[in-house]
Amino acid sequence: MKPTALVAGNWKMNGLMSSQAELEALAGMLKDGGDADCDVLICPPFTLVSAFASAGYAGVAIGAQDCHAAQSGAHTGDISAEMLRDAGAKYVIVGHSERRADHAETSALVQDKASAVLSEGLKAIVCVGETEAERDAGRTLDVVLSQVAESVPAAATPHNTIVAYEPVWAIGTGRTPTVADVADVHAALRRALIERFEDAGEGFAILYGGSVKPSNAKELMAADNVNGALVGGASLKAADLNGIIEAYR
Ligand code: PEP
Repeated sequence: MKPTALVAGNWKMNGLMSSQAELEALAGMLKDGGDADCDVLICPPFTLVSAFASAGYAGVAIGAQDCHAAQSGAHTGDISAEMLRDAGAKYVIVGHSERRADHAETSALVQDKASAVLSEGLKAIVCVGETEAERDAGRTLDVVLSQVAESVPAAATPHNTIVAYEPVWAIGTGRTPTVADVADVHAALRRALIERFEDAGEGFAILYGGSVKPSNAKELMAADNVNGALVGGASLKAADLNGIIEAYR
């Protein structure tokens, strides 16, 4: 099975109801730009998931950026995967490096969150990536391989789980690894997925994320085992995200 490519926008803590105009613009660009050989996803803040999903922008799925591992209960301020499904989300990002760093999320917790996502019939985007210090110490593969082993649940399949490789030092910095470095990490992730899930390991989409923009998307997306992009800053403007999607037209 060949992975289905995905271009996913992570809006982080950005966006208001007025941002619906960007979604409308994106849907228009997808229509006018012709078929792209990838799925398109926007993950706005929780506050916008329901409004965006119920507005229904053609060609754009709506997802969320995190969830709690439990289905319900005494967790003030948290949101469950069931609530996100109810609000119309189709995907949930788990284990983003900002969650791992700002909220001390471990891979074990990320795995529990991913399991909660899969239990609701949603797709989990499981993020992994090394810090700059880990990279400088030559530990990139050790770090991402242990994160993927510990964060991806046993119930994962190519239909319900996507892996996103996001070097922490490349997020929001304008810096990217070389295409060869990206391909090396993605090849190692692919080998690990095949080792664990046998033939199904071939079918998981592995996204690259970290300062993807229209000007570098084509070469990054052309690297072996890169099956799409997780995009932060450049996903906030429809024209920029459409410029990245262009890599799949
Ligand atoms: C991200 O936060 O997932 C990300 C990739 O951000 P940016 O594209 O802004 O580097």
